[in-house]
Amino acid sequence: MAAISDNMQAVSQRIARAAAAAGRNSDSVRLLAVSKTHPVERIEEAFRAGQTAFGENYVQEALEKMDALTRLVGGASATDVEWHLIGPLQSNKTRLVAERFNWVHTVSSAKVARRLSEQRAPGQAPLNVLIQVNSSAEPSKSGVNLEEAPVLAHAVAQMPHLRLRGLMAIPEPSHDAAVQRARFRPVQSLYQRLRADGLELDTLSLGMSEDLEAAIAEGSTMVRVGTAIFGARRRQRDAA
Ligand SMILES: *Cc1c(COP(=O)(O)O)cnc(C)c1O
Repeated sequence: MAAISDNMQAVSQRIARAAAAAGRNSDSVRLLAVSKTHPVERIEEAFRAGQTAFGENYVQEALEKMDALTRLVGGASATDVEWHLIGPLQSNKTRLVAERFNWVHTVSSAKVARRLSEQRAPGQAPLNVLIQVNSSAEPSKSGVNLEEAPVLAHAVAQMPHLRLRGLMAIPEPSHDAAVQRARFRPVQSLYQRLRADGLELDTLSLGMSEDLEAAIAEGSTMVRVGTAIFGARRRQRDAA
């Protein structure tokens, strides 16, 4: 298996090439390393290679890794790490998320947003949140429909302990770059429209290992990359 630092470099090059092809500065795209199912030692390796933003899908797994990473790198270094929740969030799990995470990408109801805002300690910086959009309106997928997103965005933007940063989406995968781009485009249009409405958004979380080039072509400012950095994941139920 390639070293994580080599994988990170390869991903950075892909981002830089895609940004250049789109006439964008590569600084305009952040890399979120998605570490779900991978042991904390792999996160430590990425951290020591310069990666500071990590995405996790499961709250309990993430909390354990936060504590373990603090023990491995020391409390002072651990404050440089930014933890992003990118998995579904149930309303009974909001308290720990409000207390421990820096970002949540999967807000899709006013109820969950209100709880996160109420449970974020006033002494902490506001919790950064993205609204997850179900751009293809697949009934099985989480996220709010494109049509319903503006009302939710304006409501979340008013919540005192949240900072609405933008939108996130996970379109249905495709191997065809043109199809990938077409699936990202409605999300980017909605993002531009909300900005034109006066919301101060700066983050469009689109793109993963297989489709980050198409996402960057469609304006992504944050790509969420797991496999291309950490290697293949074992399925949860097979994991030891
Ligand atoms: C797992 C996951 C990723 C990373 O996917 P890869 O294909 O491994 O890069 C990105 N975003 C979300 C929401 C995920 O659940």
